[in-house]
Formats: sequence, C-alpha cells, structure tokens
Amino acid sequence: MAKRDYYEVLGVSKNATDEELKKAYRKLAKQYHPDANPNNKAEAEAKFKEVNEAYETLSNPQKRQMYDQFGPDGPQGFGGGPGSYGNGTYTYTTGFDGFGDFGDLGDIFSSFFGGGFGGASRNNRSNGPRKGSDLQYDLEISFEESFLGTERYVNINRKETCKNCNGSGAKPGTHPETCSVCHGTGQIKQVQTTILGQMQTMRTCTNCHGTGKIIKEPCDNCKGKGTVRNQVRLSVKIPAGVDDNQTIVLRGEGEPGENGGPKGDLYILIHVKRHRLYSRKGNNVLCEIPITFTQATLGAELKIPMVDGTDESYIIPDGTQTGTKFLIRGKGFKNINNNSQGDFVFTVQVQVPKKLTR
Ligand SMILES: [Zn+2]
Ligand SMILES: [Zn+2]
Repeated sequence: MAKRDYYEVLGVSKNATDEELKKAYRKLAKQYHPDANPNNKAEAEAKFKEVNEAYETLSNPQKRQMYDQFGPDGPQGFGGGPGSYGNGTYTYTTGFDGFGDFGDLGDIFSSFFGGGFGGASRNNRSNGPRKGSDLQYDLEISFEESFLGTERYVNINRKETCKNCNGSGAKPGTHPETCSVCHGTGQIKQVQTTILGQMQTMRTCTNCHGTGKIIKEPCDNCKGKGTVRNQVRLSVKIPAGVDDNQTIVLRGEGEPGENGGPKGDLYILIHVKRHRLYSRKGNNVLCEIPITFTQATLGAELKIPMVDGTDESYIIPDGTQTGTKFLIRGKGFKNINNNSQGDFVFTVQVQVPKKLTR
C-alpha cells in the first residue's frame, strides 16, 4: 500500500511552520487516540500511527528536509529501505505504558484525559532516578561578617546514605529482589471503564510501594530504608559583600538521591543582623556621625570609624550644615560578583547645644 503524503496526513501545507505542524498533530492525535475510539480501535490505531509517523518525520528539520527531497519512500539504498524515516521510537501498545517515549506528547494526554491520572507523568515514575531533597538552612551573621566575609560551621540534620548497606537497604551479603508483582517497574496496570471506553492507567505497586524491589532481610542499621538521619557539621565560606537574604548554595550537600539520582543541594539563606551604627544600601555603607556645633561652624578633622575597625580621617569644611553627606570612596562593601567596591557615606548630625556660651 502506498504511503500517504505526510503533509496530507497532517492536513497542512508544504510550507507549514513548526507551530502549525504541532497544532495539527495535537488535534489529530487526540482525534485518533485509540482509547478515544473504543468502537473502531483498530482503524483509529492505524490512523494514530500514521499521524505519529508523519509528525515524527516533519517535526525533525533534517528528516523533513530529506522527506521534501526524496519523498515518502526515502532515498534509495539509504537506511532500511522504504519508509525508513524511522518510527522506531513509536511504542504505543494500549494504555499509558509507553509514556516516557512520547516526550512532548505528555501534555496532550494530560490535557486530553484531564490530567487526573496518577503515575501518568514521567516525573512520577516511582522507581526512576530521582534527585535527593534540597535543604535550607537559615544562617544569621553579623554586619561585620557580611562586610569582611567569614567561615562558619553549621550543623545540619539530614538523611544520608546508610554506610552499612551502601543504601540498598538489604542486610550486607544479601540483595534486594525484584518485586514479583510489578516485575520491578513499581507500577501496576489497571483497567478502568470510562465514557471513552476501557482505559489502562498505572498505579503504584502496593507489594513494593513503588520501589520495584523487595528486601527480604533488611539492614539493621537503617531498617531497610537505605538512609539514616545524621547530624553533620559543615563549613560554609561566606564571601565578603554577601547581603541579607542572599543564598549560598552548597551543591550535593542535600539528601541522597534515589535509584541512582544525584544528591540534593543545601541552600544557606543569609540573614544579616542590624547594626547599631551602620546600614547598607546597595554596596554602600551608610552611617550617621554626630558633630558639635563648634565643629560644624569652624570645620574640623573627624575620625570616622570604618566597618573593618580602622579609622579614616576626614576634614569637614566650616559652615557644615546638619544632614550634609560626605563620601569616602572604596570603603563600602565588596561587590560579590566582581572586584568593585562600594563607598562609605556618612551624614553629619549637628548636636545643638542646650545653652550657648560666649
Ligand atoms: Zn542500611
Ligand atoms: Zn512491586
């Protein structure tokens, strides 16, 4: 049987954009999904396959180019002969078993079926690799510490891989066995009768609780969980210039992943304590300096205390008004991302004497 033209199958023009292809494909995939056509499943499935194959070819720029050049049967002597554009990834059987292979299609099914099926999404696959949990730790530091940078130790309570069983949960010398109910997939097919006909959905295997494994002899140390809670002490380098509410990420210091997934991360959320004298605006340090009426009137050399504990002298002119701002360059916060530095800005407050003397 001659293959229909892929553009014709999808009902689009030869100049269709990717967006148009996708749109047409979504519409047809919904229409011909075998589960939506319980009364003529075979026909629907054939159409569904055809649509799928057409889209798979045309949505790939290289394959599309070849298709445009050589037509539906493909270049002679290239690959597996006629129809060799490749539909090997097409794995529709019945129900949702092949979900992972649909890739982009996932949202078609979820929008089509209302998204109400647990286990339909790839991310919910209970026995696939999963990244461990991220942890957050709130760390309070002083204004000076945020200015100068420091190293602090934090105590974290977290799950860690059990050293006794290396995370398998099985007593050393034994191994977890593949669950005989779900054959290691962690999921069981379930047939539901709905208005669209019979549909297969997946639910978590109750025999192994979705892990796909049965531990006959659990590890004594972790009771079969593969992880234990530990208190760990970690050193955290706090860079000079870190600001309130900034986060320092310690990669891989979260909880262990599952089924070979990577470890989670540890987020250190920085809280900078308020300071009695100084405040921060951007990378500038702000400060108020009280001066006497005489200093304001005649001018004076002031010793200004910097955040790092040193003093800077600064000469204010005669006739200085209260509220005047002065700037000492380069004495503010380090910019955490480059080598620039903010300034120290001080505002003078003239202390008005209660009684004027001669
Ligand atoms: Zn263990
Ligand atoms: Zn199972």
